Amino acid sequence: MSLNPEELARYDRQISVIGVEGQEKLKKARVLIVGVGGLGSIVSLYLVAAGVGELVLLDEGVVELSNLNRQILYDTSDIGKPKVTVASEKLRRLNPWVSIKPIQARASEEILDKLVGEVDLVIDALDNWESRLVLNKVCVKHNKPLVHAGIQGFYGQLMVVVPRVTPCLQCIVPRTPLTPSKIPVLPPTPGVLGSLQANEALKIITGIGKPALNKLIVYDGLKMEFTVVNVYRNPNCPICGDLK
Ligand SMILES: [Zn+2]
Repeated sequence: MSLNPEELARYDRQISVIGVEGQEKLKKARVLIVGVGGLGSIVSLYLVAAGVGELVLLDEGVVELSNLNRQILYDTSDIGKPKVTVASEKLRRLNPWVSIKPIQARASEEILDKLVGEVDLVIDALDNWESRLVLNKVCVKHNKPLVHAGIQGFYGQLMVVVPRVTPCLQCIVPRTPLTPSKIPVLPPTPGVLGSLQANEALKIITGIGKPALNKLIVYDGLKMEFTVVNVYRNPNCPICGDLK
């Protein structure tokens, strides 16, 4: 898949980092972003700016006033509109060479099963563990890499799941953690974690560098510390324990 002159000019600053070959891999890639809130705003902006070929956006929500402190894809005039509709309009304006597919629906197992099978990589930009563990299960089933992040207040965590290679999310979270009905978030926290997710996605797609495999990266914005915790596959994991 070759790049046209406009694309070569648009991606000039990054082609010197990832090469034309890397850029062509990005153009061929299809990525699903589950959740277009605080994390999803950042990841989608960077992946579209970077020239990923196709982005599928899944979110059931509409823009609310209290989203605007951190969900930077949206502004005041968007309140009440479906997030995926507003997001896809803005992202198309940013880069018309990326195909954006908005889907306004809940992240149910049925719909995830269909969507995950059609993409190369999945971004977990969800805000609750119940849906996240369903997404994890579907990604393991389809053998697709999943870039997870979660945030709360000044804190966040990142983990890359490559089924059969790394632990899955269920390996490290045997029981579903409770999600508060209203997660407190400082605006830059999703910015930090969403940027790291985009970074890992671009590395996995281009095959450049080493993704954060078998590691949980914990961000503490209050102390400004990153902690790397080694994580291991759980042989008794109900989702991936039997997989070789
Ligand atoms: Zn597992």
